Amino acid sequence: MRLRHKPWAEEFITENAHIVVPNPEEQKGKWAALFGNDNPLHIEVGTGKGQFITGMALQNPDINYIGIELFPSVIVCAVEKVLAAETPKNLRLLKVDGAELENYFEKGEIDRVYLNFSDPWPKKRHAKRRLTHASFLSIYERLLPDNGEIHFKTDNRGLFEFSLVSMNEYGMKLKYVSLDLHAEMPENNIMTEYEEKFSAKGQPIYRLESQFVT
Ligand code: SAM
Repeated sequence: MRLRHKPWAEEFITENAHIVVPNPEEQKGKWAALFGNDNPLHIEVGTGKGQFITGMALQNPDINYIGIELFPSVIVCAVEKVLAAETPKNLRLLKVDGAELENYFEKGEIDRVYLNFSDPWPKKRHAKRRLTHASFLSIYERLLPDNGEIHFKTDNRGLFEFSLVSMNEYGMKLKYVSLDLHAEMPENNIMTEYEEKFSAKGQPIYRLESQFVT
Protein backbone atom coordinates (compact mmCIF):
# COMPACT_ATOMS: atom_id res chain seq x y z
CA MET A 1 0.00 0.00 0.00
CA ARG A 2 1.36 3.41 -0.98
CA LEU A 3 1.77 5.60 2.09
CA ARG A 4 1.23 9.32 1.74
CA HIS A 5 2.35 11.31 4.75
CA LYS A 6 -0.63 12.98 6.41
CA PRO A 7 0.59 15.42 9.06
CA TRP A 8 -2.93 15.72 10.47
CA ALA A 9 -3.35 11.96 10.97
CA GLU A 10 -2.38 11.73 14.66
CA GLU A 11 -4.65 14.62 15.62
CA PHE A 12 -7.56 13.12 13.65
CA ILE A 13 -7.02 9.77 15.38
CA THR A 14 -7.00 11.43 18.81
CA GLU A 15 -10.19 13.34 17.96
CA ASN A 16 -11.86 10.03 17.08
CA ALA A 17 -11.02 8.18 20.28
CA HIS A 18 -14.54 6.69 20.21
CA ILE A 19 -13.36 4.72 17.14
CA VAL A 20 -9.56 4.30 17.48
CA VAL A 21 -9.17 3.10 21.06
CA PRO A 22 -6.46 5.06 22.89
CA ASN A 23 -4.11 3.10 25.19
CA PRO A 24 -5.54 -0.26 24.10
CA GLU A 25 -3.27 -2.17 26.51
CA GLU A 26 -5.53 -0.84 29.30
CA GLN A 27 -8.47 -2.72 27.73
CA LYS A 28 -6.75 -6.12 27.88
CA GLY A 29 -9.28 -8.54 29.40
CA LYS A 30 -11.97 -5.84 29.36
CA TRP A 31 -13.18 -5.71 25.74
CA ALA A 32 -16.63 -7.11 26.60
CA ALA A 33 -17.05 -4.21 29.05
CA LEU A 34 -15.99 -1.71 26.40
CA PHE A 35 -18.55 -3.08 23.92
CA GLY A 36 -21.13 -3.45 26.70
CA ASN A 37 -22.00 -7.06 25.83
CA ASP A 38 -20.61 -10.62 25.71
CA ASN A 39 -20.94 -11.04 21.95
CA PRO A 40 -18.12 -12.83 20.09
CA LEU A 41 -15.14 -10.67 19.10
CA HIS A 42 -13.63 -10.98 15.61
CA ILE A 43 -10.50 -9.08 14.65
CA GLU A 44 -8.92 -8.25 11.31
CA VAL A 45 -5.14 -7.82 11.30
CA GLY A 46 -4.04 -5.41 8.57
CA THR A 47 -7.37 -3.65 8.13
CA GLY A 48 -6.10 -1.07 5.66
CA LYS A 49 -8.78 1.43 4.66
CA GLY A 50 -11.48 -0.39 6.60
CA GLN A 51 -14.07 -1.43 4.01
CA PHE A 52 -14.18 -5.09 5.13
CA ILE A 53 -14.38 -4.55 8.88
CA THR A 54 -17.00 -1.80 8.52
CA GLY A 55 -19.09 -3.94 6.17
CA MET A 56 -18.84 -6.93 8.52
CA ALA A 57 -19.89 -4.82 11.51
CA LEU A 58 -22.96 -3.57 9.64
CA GLN A 59 -23.81 -7.05 8.34
CA ASN A 60 -23.42 -8.76 11.74
CA PRO A 61 -24.57 -6.49 14.58
CA ASP A 62 -24.35 -9.36 17.12
CA ILE A 63 -20.61 -9.74 16.62
CA ASN A 64 -18.05 -7.23 17.88
CA TYR A 65 -15.25 -6.28 15.48
CA ILE A 66 -11.82 -4.74 15.90
CA GLY A 67 -9.73 -3.68 12.92
CA ILE A 68 -5.97 -3.53 13.52
CA GLU A 69 -3.79 -1.32 11.37
CA LEU A 70 -0.21 -0.24 11.88
CA PHE A 71 -0.02 3.02 9.94
CA PRO A 72 -1.67 6.31 10.97
CA SER A 73 -1.93 7.52 7.35
CA VAL A 74 -3.90 4.37 6.47
CA ILE A 75 -6.07 4.03 9.57
CA VAL A 76 -7.45 7.54 9.05
CA CYS A 77 -9.14 6.23 5.88
CA ALA A 78 -10.69 3.46 7.97
CA VAL A 79 -11.90 6.04 10.51
CA GLU A 80 -13.55 8.01 7.68
CA LYS A 81 -15.24 4.82 6.52
CA VAL A 82 -16.53 4.09 10.04
CA LEU A 83 -17.84 7.65 10.36
CA ALA A 84 -19.56 7.39 6.96
CA ALA A 85 -21.26 4.22 8.22
CA GLU A 86 -22.54 6.20 11.23
CA THR A 87 -20.09 4.57 13.64
CA PRO A 88 -21.52 1.09 14.31
CA LYS A 89 -21.47 0.39 18.07
CA ASN A 90 -19.92 -3.05 17.51
CA LEU A 91 -16.76 -1.74 15.81
CA ARG A 92 -13.47 -0.29 17.01
CA LEU A 93 -10.04 0.22 15.46
CA LEU A 94 -6.58 -0.15 17.00
CA LYS A 95 -3.46 1.55 15.68
CA VAL A 96 -1.04 -1.17 16.76
CA ASP A 97 1.25 -3.88 15.40
CA GLY A 98 -0.38 -7.27 14.85
CA ALA A 99 2.84 -8.86 16.14
CA GLU A 100 2.00 -7.44 19.57
CA LEU A 101 -1.58 -8.67 19.94
CA GLU A 102 -0.80 -10.26 23.29
CA ASN A 103 -0.31 -6.80 24.80
CA TYR A 104 -3.98 -6.05 24.08
CA PHE A 105 -5.96 -9.28 24.41
CA GLU A 106 -6.29 -12.13 26.92
CA LYS A 107 -6.49 -15.78 25.88
CA GLY A 108 -10.01 -16.56 24.67
CA GLU A 109 -10.99 -12.90 24.29
CA ILE A 110 -10.85 -13.09 20.48
CA ASP A 111 -13.12 -15.57 18.71
CA ARG A 112 -11.86 -15.30 15.14
CA VAL A 113 -8.97 -13.75 13.20
CA TYR A 114 -9.42 -12.35 9.68
CA LEU A 115 -6.43 -11.73 7.42
CA ASN A 116 -7.19 -10.04 4.12
CA PHE A 117 -4.69 -9.37 1.35
CA SER A 118 -1.84 -9.35 3.84
CA ASP A 119 1.47 -7.98 2.59
CA PRO A 120 3.11 -10.91 0.74
CA TRP A 121 6.74 -10.19 1.66
CA PRO A 122 7.93 -12.23 -1.36
CA LYS A 123 11.62 -12.36 -0.41
CA LYS A 124 12.49 -15.53 1.48
CA ARG A 125 14.47 -13.62 4.09
CA HIS A 126 11.29 -11.67 4.96
CA ALA A 127 9.12 -14.79 5.40
CA LYS A 128 8.85 -14.18 9.15
CA ARG A 129 6.95 -10.95 8.46
CA ARG A 130 4.12 -12.76 6.67
CA LEU A 131 1.03 -12.74 8.88
CA THR A 132 0.56 -16.48 8.28
CA HIS A 133 4.11 -17.39 9.36
CA ALA A 134 4.27 -19.90 12.24
CA SER A 135 5.38 -17.14 14.63
CA PHE A 136 2.09 -15.27 13.96
CA LEU A 137 0.05 -18.50 14.04
CA SER A 138 1.38 -19.17 17.54
CA ILE A 139 0.25 -15.69 18.65
CA TYR A 140 -3.25 -16.26 17.25
CA GLU A 141 -3.37 -19.70 18.88
CA ARG A 142 -2.49 -18.27 22.28
CA LEU A 143 -5.34 -15.74 22.01
CA LEU A 144 -8.11 -17.72 20.31
CA PRO A 145 -10.23 -20.27 22.20
CA ASP A 146 -9.59 -23.97 21.52
CA ASN A 147 -10.51 -24.72 17.88
CA GLY A 148 -10.42 -21.00 17.01
CA GLU A 149 -10.42 -20.07 13.32
CA ILE A 150 -8.47 -17.94 10.88
CA HIS A 151 -10.22 -16.74 7.70
CA PHE A 152 -7.81 -15.57 5.02
CA LYS A 153 -8.26 -14.01 1.55
CA THR A 154 -5.59 -12.96 -0.91
CA ASP A 155 -4.93 -12.42 -4.59
CA ASN A 156 -1.32 -13.50 -4.12
CA ARG A 157 -0.76 -17.10 -5.15
CA GLY A 158 2.69 -17.31 -3.56
CA LEU A 159 1.41 -16.10 -0.20
CA PHE A 160 -1.58 -18.45 -0.43
CA GLU A 161 0.67 -21.46 -1.13
CA PHE A 162 3.00 -20.43 1.71
CA SER A 163 0.02 -20.07 4.07
CA LEU A 164 -1.41 -23.49 3.21
CA VAL A 165 1.94 -25.11 3.97
CA SER A 166 2.53 -22.99 7.08
CA MET A 167 -0.88 -23.84 8.55
CA ASN A 168 -0.56 -27.51 7.62
CA GLU A 169 2.90 -27.76 9.22
CA TYR A 170 1.52 -26.01 12.29
CA GLY A 171 -1.07 -28.80 12.58
CA MET A 172 -4.12 -26.70 11.74
CA LYS A 173 -7.18 -28.21 10.07
CA LEU A 174 -8.17 -26.68 6.72
CA LYS A 175 -11.95 -26.38 6.76
CA TYR A 176 -12.39 -24.59 3.45
CA VAL A 177 -10.16 -23.72 0.50
CA SER A 178 -11.16 -21.82 -2.65
CA LEU A 179 -8.88 -21.02 -5.57
CA ASP A 180 -11.51 -18.72 -7.10
CA LEU A 181 -13.80 -17.25 -4.48
CA HIS A 182 -15.65 -15.03 -6.91
CA ALA A 183 -16.58 -17.97 -9.14
CA GLU A 184 -18.59 -19.20 -6.14
CA MET A 185 -19.90 -15.71 -5.29
CA PRO A 186 -20.97 -16.35 -1.71
CA GLU A 187 -23.84 -14.01 -0.89
CA ASN A 188 -22.43 -12.67 2.34
CA ASN A 189 -18.90 -11.98 1.02
CA ILE A 190 -17.81 -8.48 2.04
CA MET A 191 -15.12 -7.24 -0.34
CA THR A 192 -12.00 -5.46 0.85
CA GLU A 193 -10.48 -2.55 -1.08
CA TYR A 194 -7.75 -4.82 -2.46
CA GLU A 195 -10.27 -7.52 -3.36
CA GLU A 196 -12.29 -5.02 -5.42
CA LYS A 197 -9.16 -3.82 -7.17
CA PHE A 198 -7.73 -7.23 -8.05
CA SER A 199 -11.00 -8.96 -8.92
CA ALA A 200 -11.86 -6.07 -11.27
CA LYS A 201 -8.66 -6.95 -13.14
CA GLY A 202 -9.89 -10.52 -13.49
CA GLN A 203 -7.46 -11.99 -10.96
CA PRO A 204 -8.72 -14.97 -8.94
CA ILE A 205 -9.23 -14.45 -5.22
CA TYR A 206 -7.97 -17.25 -2.98
CA ARG A 207 -9.68 -17.94 0.33
CA LEU A 208 -9.27 -20.39 3.19
CA GLU A 209 -10.69 -21.09 6.62
CA SER A 210 -8.40 -22.91 9.02
CA GLN A 211 -8.87 -24.10 12.58
CA PHE A 212 -6.50 -24.80 15.46
CA VAL A 213 -6.70 -28.39 16.64
CA THR A 214 -6.43 -29.27 20.34
N1 SAM B 1 -6.91 -5.69 4.27
C1 SAM B 1 -6.91 -4.54 3.38
C2 SAM B 1 -7.50 -4.90 2.04
O1 SAM B 1 -7.63 -6.10 1.77
O2 SAM B 1 -7.84 -4.00 1.28
C3 SAM B 1 -5.49 -3.95 3.26
C4 SAM B 1 -4.48 -4.81 2.58
S1 SAM B 1 -2.85 -4.07 2.56
C5 SAM B 1 -1.99 -4.97 1.36
C6 SAM B 1 -2.14 -4.71 4.07
C7 SAM B 1 -2.37 -3.81 5.26
O3 SAM B 1 -1.88 -4.47 6.42
C8 SAM B 1 -1.63 -2.48 5.17
O4 SAM B 1 -2.53 -1.42 5.44
C9 SAM B 1 -0.57 -2.60 6.25
O5 SAM B 1 -0.25 -1.34 6.81
C10 SAM B 1 -1.21 -3.53 7.23
N2 SAM B 1 -0.26 -4.30 8.07
C11 SAM B 1 0.80 -5.00 7.62
N3 SAM B 1 1.45 -5.57 8.64
C12 SAM B 1 0.77 -5.23 9.77
C13 SAM B 1 0.95 -5.52 11.14
N4 SAM B 1 1.97 -6.28 11.57
N5 SAM B 1 0.06 -5.02 12.01
C14 SAM B 1 -0.97 -4.25 11.60
N6 SAM B 1 -1.19 -3.93 10.30
C15 SAM B 1 -0.33 -4.42 9.39
